[in-house]
Amino acid sequence: MSKPHLVVLGAGESGASAARLGQQQGYDVFVSDFGAGSERYLAELDEAGIAYETGGHTLDRVLQAEVVVKSPGIPDTAPVVKAILGAGIPVVSEIEFAFRYVHPEATIVGITGSNGKTTTTLLTHFLLQEAGEKAVAGGNLGDSFARLLLDHEPQDIYVLELSSFQLDGIVDFRPDIAVVLNITPDHLDRYGYELDRYADSKLRIGRNQRSVDHLLVLQDDKTLAPALRRNPTRARVTTIDPDRDIQGTTLRVDDDTFSLHTGRLTGRHNAMNALFAVRIARLLTVSDEEIQLALDNFRPAPHRMEVIPTADGRTWINDSKATNVDSTYFALEAMDGPTVWIAGGTDKGNDYEPLREVVDGKVHTLICLGQDNEKLRTAFADLERVVECRSAREAVELADRYARAGDRILLSPACASFDLFKNYVDRGDQFRACVQTIAA
Ligand code: ADP
Repeated sequence: MSKPHLVVLGAGESGASAARLGQQQGYDVFVSDFGAGSERYLAELDEAGIAYETGGHTLDRVLQAEVVVKSPGIPDTAPVVKAILGAGIPVVSEIEFAFRYVHPEATIVGITGSNGKTTTTLLTHFLLQEAGEKAVAGGNLGDSFARLLLDHEPQDIYVLELSSFQLDGIVDFRPDIAVVLNITPDHLDRYGYELDRYADSKLRIGRNQRSVDHLLVLQDDKTLAPALRRNPTRARVTTIDPDRDIQGTTLRVDDDTFSLHTGRLTGRHNAMNALFAVRIARLLTVSDEEIQLALDNFRPAPHRMEVIPTADGRTWINDSKATNVDSTYFALEAMDGPTVWIAGGTDKGNDYEPLREVVDGKVHTLICLGQDNEKLRTAFADLERVVECRSAREAVELADRYARAGDRILLSPACASFDLFKNYVDRGDQFRACVQTIAA
């Protein structure tokens, strides 16, 4: 009997690993990438002996599939996807595909939201790991779900960061514990510029859950509550209200309290992320003592409110991962004194007005770091000083000139990085390196 055909669209992290998982599960696999593909993943396919093409899709071959795994970057409107769907072939995400092969006793934690996914996923994993649980983290960060299955022995707990694109492609995927951290405008170009459609994608996380499962969501009457009503779940829903549960650096969870190490999980947004992570850990029966100990020892990932150590009496913060207005709002809110703010880049249709209340009285200098700074410059034209530059080095030199002793210098761009940098990591790395030479 011939093997069933699996076609994977996209040869990136999720595509290459889904292809290998498919091969392991007895599929005849073909990978098709419209672009050039990345060397690293093509080498992985070569090594596994998996057939692939780059630079276009051979439709005849693609349409032989019984099932297609589509990488999250490819929209449903792509002609190849339309052709596949038109032929009645199911298209799923790598998350859905991997879910079919995870051992049935595993506990799955799925974390989605517009901001804070990575931090919450890593923190949750840390809380579990420090308590001795056999757990791994991945999904939209680091290793894909398929790779976690391929490269690790079976785990008790899988903590998965999930993007809305990944959730769009689920059919039966069912997390035991699901989290929706927040919903704010992002990626709206993929959702017809409708916030409700984007919210509905996120809420898909709960669609297959059962009454024994948990869904934790932020208290948000404006966007999340109506989205929940449109997308009913059978899971037990817990609403997290930051106004009730966060007092400064103290977290309240039911009748217990936890404290956050200042300087590590900085700002109210991270307190919110920690509230979710602590709740998850408690549902998975980690003790309060173990949770507090792990909270004390956690170090956030780079580029997220990362304090760069210097000896110049000022505080330099790399928040390059802040690529939308909401994440920059929380970064500015966390500044507790005079601030030089470095922002700008590729504007995704931003409205800067909401930042006013956290800029006024704190930011004395705005350094615009981008190709086209017009919008940002106009929005904050009344600040004491607004200057422009086109490289991380220039930005740091200007900040060094204008920041006084005791000031904070915050890189929190509110924009994507693609005008001047490869990505947010490149932007943050260049910033850190310049700070270390100029201000050390
Ligand atoms: P994601 O994986 O969802 O992009 P990250 O944890 O990588 O989230 O954080 C992205 C950016 O958003 C960082 O600049 C971070 O400081 C900020 N951020 C983190 N958590 C939140 C939150 N709960 N609400 C708003 N902004 C946040």
